[in-house]
Amino acid sequence: MRIAVIGGGISGLSTAFYLKRGGADVTVFEKEERVGGKMKTVREDGYIIETGPNGFLDGKPYTLKLVRALRIEERLYRSSDKARKRFIYTDGRLVRIPENPIAFLASYLLSWKGKLRLIGEFLVPPKKDNLDETLSSFAKRRIGEEALEKLLDPMVAGIFAGDPDKMSLKATFPAIYRLEKRYGGLIKGLIAKMKEAKKSGKKASGPAGPGGVLTSFIGGVSDLVEALERELRDSLKIGVEVLSLEETSNGWKITYSDGEKTYEEVFDAVVLSTPSYVSAELLKNVDPEISSLLSQIEYSPISVVALGFEKRGLGHDLDGFGFLVPRRERRKVLGVLWDSSVFPNRAPKGKVLLRVMIGGARQPELALLPEDELVKIALKELKRIMKIRHYPEKVKVFKHERGIPHYTLGHAERVERIFQLAKKHRGLYFCNNAYTGVGVNDCTKAAEEMAGEILNG
Ligand SMILES: Cc1cc2nc3c(=O)[nH]c(=O)nc-3n(C[C@H](O)[C@H](O)[C@H](O)COP(=O)(O)OP(=O)(O)OC[C@H]3O[C@@H](n4cnc5c(N)ncnc54)[C@H](O)[C@@H]3O)c2cc1C
Repeated sequence: MRIAVIGGGISGLSTAFYLKRGGADVTVFEKEERVGGKMKTVREDGYIIETGPNGFLDGKPYTLKLVRALRIEERLYRSSDKARKRFIYTDGRLVRIPENPIAFLASYLLSWKGKLRLIGEFLVPPKKDNLDETLSSFAKRRIGEEALEKLLDPMVAGIFAGDPDKMSLKATFPAIYRLEKRYGGLIKGLIAKMKEAKKSGKKASGPAGPGGVLTSFIGGVSDLVEALERELRDSLKIGVEVLSLEETSNGWKITYSDGEKTYEEVFDAVVLSTPSYVSAELLKNVDPEISSLLSQIEYSPISVVALGFEKRGLGHDLDGFGFLVPRRERRKVLGVLWDSSVFPNRAPKGKVLLRVMIGGARQPELALLPEDELVKIALKELKRIMKIRHYPEKVKVFKHERGIPHYTLGHAERVERIFQLAKKHRGLYFCNNAYTGVGVNDCTKAAEEMAGEILNG
């Protein structure tokens, strides 16, 4: 069986890897001159700088499984214990996110009224219907407005660059949606989960961050991409853009271009690992309804400003993971990651590396500003929030115009419909972060499942 995988990001590469391992004849088409998509590490002057993701959580098995299959376990790099200390910028200062109930009660993060409201979640009856709702509506109903503004909003901006007023609970946090459905509430559900985790000896999620240890690779996330590239070497077509798809009686005719010439090839099956807006274009003439649904999936723009400083005299100990900023603080950054505290080899000796996130669905107009303006914003905010007055010795800016899919209200139903309609077309599959999860673990999980489905007919 000849299978084409269009798009060589982590979703496409891992799908192709699992397909090839299962004996399929697979070809990956990648538009750029390199594979990896959003996963890319820049190694320069002793700095190891991530342009997008800085790792994955080892609480879920999917990426680790891929790493083992690629035999690159020795490249894994666990975040330092400092990564457990996460901060939120609130009322003009950095406040540590409490890791346990006692720390929560003592914390300045919420007022007493806000804390009582959050604890009162225990008494809130569960929602009766199965209709989707926004994250904001869910939070107001269960944990109160203050917790929404000071905790959920910055978290959503940090993970998804998203807007809780628009995002779907069901699609963004399916586990939380199920927690309420199954146990009647979050606190009730968390207690039950902790008991289950204790029994099985695993660690459950805490309030300071999702479950598991943030894990990356010694040379950055590109180590994983490079390992996949090595395994797939003969199956990669790099620097070729797929222009159109046609469903014929012999299979899928793919028209692609290397910038000079146009080529055509026919495959038995095609996996669309391209962002949904690209897949929408490719399927315009194949299935207008799927194409229209795909084009409704929105994206948030985000820019990453990476700054390397001399450690000496910086005026901040950088003891932690970094901080997130709630919308109500009206600052121009979504958050700042203290990368060299989390993964010490990210900066050369005597230097530190910070990455400042700007834009998102909250301030899309900021994400696409010219590079020098983004750097100015980043430095101004570091000065105000962290009192850092140094000038950086290393500056890199990475812009992601359509950075992270924004799972808005109705997303889960939209995706279900897309997958249902796709069944009408023999050999048409989707695997990308636009559908069932935006994290690296979600992509590697979807890839493994997708490859299994194809190989099993
Ligand atoms: C700033 C930022 C920070 C992030 N941080 C984290 C994090 O810390 N942890 C985490 O788990 N996740 C994080 N993510 C999310 C994660 O990076 C992505 O979900 C994941 O990398 C997406 O992979 P993908 O393969 O689904 O899509 P992509 O990486 O977008 O890959 C799609 C590929 O398709 C190619 N393509 C497009 N059109 C065509 C065409 N016509 N023909 C051929 N090829 C085409 C593209 O060039 C690209 O290579 C972050 C994302 C961003 C932007």
